[in-house]
Parts: sequence; structure tokens; C-alpha cells
Amino acid sequence: MTEKFVSDENGHVTKLHTVNVEWVASENGGFSPQKTPGSEKVWPTDLVLLAMGFLGPENTLIEKLAIEQDGRSNVKADEGIFKTNVDGVFAAGDMRRGQSLVVWAINEGRAAARECDRYLMGATQLGTFKQTTPKSHRILLDGLSSMAFNHFQLPKSSLF
Ligand SMILES: Cc1cc2nc3c(=O)[nH]c(=O)nc-3n(C[C@H](O)[C@H](O)[C@H](O)COP(=O)(O)OP(=O)(O)OC[C@H]3O[C@@H](n4cnc5c(N)ncnc54)[C@H](O)[C@@H]3O)c2cc1C
Repeated sequence: MTEKFVSDENGHVTKLHTVNVEWVASENGGFSPQKTPGSEKVWPTDLVLLAMGFLGPENTLIEKLAIEQDGRSNVKADEGIFKTNVDGVFAAGDMRRGQSLVVWAINEGRAAARECDRYLMGATQLGTFKQTTPKSHRILLDGLSSMAFNHFQLPKSSLF
């Protein structure tokens, strides 16, 4: 894990300070990095490429609106309801479930739109995913999720 970037007087990176970490399961369901003592290193550097994957939703809006987050830093909102702790604020997709798949983003986007409609109008005529989608499409959706989770060798909790 990189702990520090060092730059010269022109702002160009010259060194990276790193330390080895072990990912340890925490009580709230997430994982946190635990530094390995004595593994600190300094690397001469002139170019840094960031390849970090999904690190959780950005915090700007979350903090400004005081939206509650779960143990993995995603926005806390139940599947199927999508309401956050802030009245009138809904969350869906990666922001709610963590890194996932386009098919889930589409599915949750539709379902969250339905819940927004219910919130604004008092009732909704928008269908649920299960009502409007043929069984064959649902099998495809489930299949795609399983394929992705096998392909990336992710723990099931990171996708669902
Ligand atoms: C490198 C990479 C490869 C992937 N490959 C695949 C793949 O092959 N297959 C697959 O199924 N999934 C893949 N995924 C996952 C997939 O892209 C996501 O699950 C999906 O895009 C999530 O959709 P979303 O609508 O929840 O979020 P996003 O697609 O992240 O959309 C959120 C949008 O909100 C906007 N936004 C953020 N903050 C604000 C703000 N304050 N105001 C206004 N707008 C804001 C962002 O600009 C963004 O356009 C990949 C993801 C990554 C990063």
C-alpha cells in the first residue's frame, strides 16, 4: 500500500513510500488493511499509474447530506426500498450495493425510480422487475452475475 508520494520542487513525483498490508476482516463486515511492521520501502519513481478498482462511493455528497453508510462505505439503503436515512434521498446501483454489474445497476435504477414515484405520488403504477421481465431474462441476469463473480474470483459478499 502506498503511504506517501514525494515530489520535487516542480511538483513531479520522485519517490513512493510503501508498506505491505494484510486485509483483515472487521466486525462491521468490511476489510481493513493492517500494516506489516518492518515492510516499509522507498521506491525511486517518475510515473505513477493508479489502478485501484472500485474504492467505494465518493464522499462529497454523502457528507454534505449526512447520509448514513454501511461497514463497506456504501450508502445504507435496503434493496427494494432504496430510501436512505435522509428523507427524499434514494440510493441504487454501485453506490448502494458496492462494486457490481451493469445488469444490477439497470435493475436497481428501475426499481429505485419506482420507489421515488411512490414517494412523490403516494402510490406507483411502475412495475417491479419481476412483474415486467420474462423468466428467461431473469435467468440471464442471474447467470451473468454468477459468471462475473466466478471470473473475478470475488467473495460473494462483494457482488450481492
Ligand atoms: C473498469 C471497470 C470495468 C467494469 N466492467 C464491467 C463489465 O464488464 N460488466 C459489467 O456488468 N460491469 C462492469 N463494471 C461495473 C459497472 O460499470 C458498474 O456496476 C455500473 O456502471 C454501476 O452503475 P451505477 O449507475 O450504479 O454507477 P455509475 O455507472 O458509476 O454511475 C454513477 C454516475 O453518477 C455520476 N455522479 C457521481 N457523483 C455525482 C454528483 N455529485 N452529481 C452528479 N452526478 C454524479 C457519475 O459521474 C456517474 O456517471 C465495470 C466497472 C469498472 C470500474
